[in-house]
Amino acid sequence: MARFGGRWLQDARITSVFAVMAATALVAPLGFADEPYAPSRDYALQDIRTHLWFDLDQRKVRGEVTESISALRDDISEVKLDSVDLKIESVQVDGKAAKFSTDSSKLTVSLDVPAKRGEKRELFIRYEGQPKKGLYFILPDTNYPRQPREIWTQGEAEDTRYYIPLYDYPNDRTTSEMVLTVPASWITISNGKLLDVKEEPDGMKTWDWKQSEPLSTYLITAVAGEFVERDDTWHGMTLRYVVPRGEESTIEPTFARTKEMLDLFSSKLGVPYPWDQYAQTSVDDFVEGGMENTSATTLTVDSLINPKLAPEFRMGSDDVYSHELAHQWFGDLVTCKDWANLWLNEGFATFFEHYWMEQHYGADDAAYVFWREQNNWFRQQRNYSVPIVDRYFNDSAEHEGNIYDKGGWVLKMLREELGDDDFFHSLHNYLEANRGQNVVTADLQKAIEQTASINVDEFFHQWVYRAGAPEFDVDYTYDDQMHRITLNVSQTQKLEGLVGLFDVPIDVEITTASGRKTYPIEVKRAADSFYLPADSAPLMVLFDKGDKIFKKVNFKKDSAALIYQLKNAGTVPDRADAATALGGFRGDSDVVAALGSAANHDPFWGVRVEALRALGRLGGLDAEQQLLASLDNEQQPWVREVTARELGIFKQDGSLGQKLTETAEHDPAYRVRAAALDSLAAIKAPNAFDLLTSAVKSDSPDDLIGRAALGAFGILGDDRAVPLLLDWSVLGKPPRSREAAIAAVAGLDRKNKEITKALVSYLKEPYFNIRFAAILALGARGDTDAILPLEQMLSQGELTQGERPYIEGSLAILKSQSPAK
Ligand SMILES: [Zn+2]
Repeated sequence: MARFGGRWLQDARITSVFAVMAATALVAPLGFADEPYAPSRDYALQDIRTHLWFDLDQRKVRGEVTESISALRDDISEVKLDSVDLKIESVQVDGKAAKFSTDSSKLTVSLDVPAKRGEKRELFIRYEGQPKKGLYFILPDTNYPRQPREIWTQGEAEDTRYYIPLYDYPNDRTTSEMVLTVPASWITISNGKLLDVKEEPDGMKTWDWKQSEPLSTYLITAVAGEFVERDDTWHGMTLRYVVPRGEESTIEPTFARTKEMLDLFSSKLGVPYPWDQYAQTSVDDFVEGGMENTSATTLTVDSLINPKLAPEFRMGSDDVYSHELAHQWFGDLVTCKDWANLWLNEGFATFFEHYWMEQHYGADDAAYVFWREQNNWFRQQRNYSVPIVDRYFNDSAEHEGNIYDKGGWVLKMLREELGDDDFFHSLHNYLEANRGQNVVTADLQKAIEQTASINVDEFFHQWVYRAGAPEFDVDYTYDDQMHRITLNVSQTQKLEGLVGLFDVPIDVEITTASGRKTYPIEVKRAADSFYLPADSAPLMVLFDKGDKIFKKVNFKKDSAALIYQLKNAGTVPDRADAATALGGFRGDSDVVAALGSAANHDPFWGVRVEALRALGRLGGLDAEQQLLASLDNEQQPWVREVTARELGIFKQDGSLGQKLTETAEHDPAYRVRAAALDSLAAIKAPNAFDLLTSAVKSDSPDDLIGRAALGAFGILGDDRAVPLLLDWSVLGKPPRSREAAIAAVAGLDRKNKEITKALVSYLKEPYFNIRFAAILALGARGDTDAILPLEQMLSQGELTQGERPYIEGSLAILKSQSPAK
């Protein structure tokens, strides 16, 4: 599953939302169930055939499900199925009416003749429901008459039970057939192979999909609606690209690299893509960033690439698309047995997302994204407290930081330790040994040990089962008599709970006038000194050259050493580290010159970005000149956007305002123009209000400029924008424009109760993304009138996946502002 919050974080245009999220230190939540252990099973679900009909007016689903089960012990006299809010009309066992009862979470079916171990029964259940979760209706209404009709499901973690009564925990697998009766003009997508599409008499069609390899039930999917499908083939297999009507032009730029991704993962793993099709379906108002349903990934329309904007992005939405594809092996072919082992899904998907970047875009791109994720992880203190494999797994952000970011890093470190051959062979053997099964982390360890003959117990113990990560204080002295340096290393992470000392291999690179040499050392004590040869005073000492170990380092270096490192280090992380550190040296013209040189000339775009950010932190006229040079010279729109944005930190003067105005009006890239609008607002340029007002009405792909202008009003802080923003926030305006307007208006005219009232009213809307924007906006607004409505929302219980932690975050902000009682 791709993280929902990713979209908010990537979409830098929604800056005020981003600011709220940074303030509350929230990243995207997961929303998982709270059982720490997989349940013991009485029976195995062996096949499930579900037929669904939909009542659009009432947002109802009617279902008939046939389930073949096999008893796993003797004397099974009742069968319990997970079932929430479903009205069960009748149940048959082996063709005969059976007694059943329901409570809030289970359907219990009585067996007249108790089943013995190994005996089979066939259940047939007729039911209907109005699912609050699991299955969603996206429909046109008077406000959005042109909204294509869409029905889609989201099973992970435990939501399939809201539209099918069934055994719904990952520690079982079943073959599955999904039969969908829908209007004849619709398209449907589900798992596996399309067996048949049959005309029905009343303007309907029935689609029959069959998944003949077993899956865990959270991976069942049903999508139906007014979609457009383009098909392709890959080694004889059908690839389906499915988007809502009207989005046809996005198909080529969005999905063009699918085959190349399939080639890469299949060949590197030595396990061919394991399913009968690969469908990628984009839906509106999706509740996750993406979901890897077996053979049929569901994605959000927000990650579709407008062809006019495609050249402005380094990798489009490849991160999400490669992530979900990697899950088809890690998660779907081999599935975690319980949520505590979810990193076996998410860590691998994150790792292979970066592996795709490495292979397609370059090793520097992958190194840079790992470096950024590492630094983000260390900025969140709460990440330290929980291990990757945690029985008390829940929907908290710290679990997410660990299973995704640290999980991906753990696999990167394993690859480093084992080498590519052993690493990828181990993965091959892990997949083959556990194909079609449910796994725990020990299964991965075993596959590695059997393949590589390397004992990885200590590695897994410290990185996976225990918590935290190493933080190092490092310094050195040079002895010109002995021709050696003394490198002092201490571990400064707080040793408490599951956080201990780490034992890690570290490469130290020493550069002197005569060249550079690398010395491997092992750091394992709380404090230690290492003596390393150096024929003359070092020009550069790198601790963990190339960023191979997940860690934080405080290496005291003066500006001259950092300037040398920024210019001369061979790897992207080492140069990026130097740029970041130099951002703390104010009032040093050499530092500005060095950062300016890197910002304009470093061969890798990510280092240029970090140098630009460091210049922004330094401020001052010289730094501004370097940024202006970058604005003129930088070829890559995704870098120039950073330049335009950083200029917003500087002091307003006529020439900066003029330059940003030119950029906002004429830069060849829309995203750079959008960033310039933000910066004009940030420097409070005298023309900003008028410029933004006219930009709101301008025409651009995906209305990128109009939405940016709405968001920029929030940065400008000019209350004259309130009527316009309220007008753009109402029902009927395009949802993404509403999100921008909602975020922007939150910070304006704070005494104006009408604004709070409007934001509160959005909490009740059926549109997930609007509710989400309103939750964040109310936290940012700081009006304690919002406490009660947010608390009411929390108490209603049936929140969509992921909403709860954000509501709690906004409530925490509001309560901290309300006077103590
Ligand atoms: Zn995922």
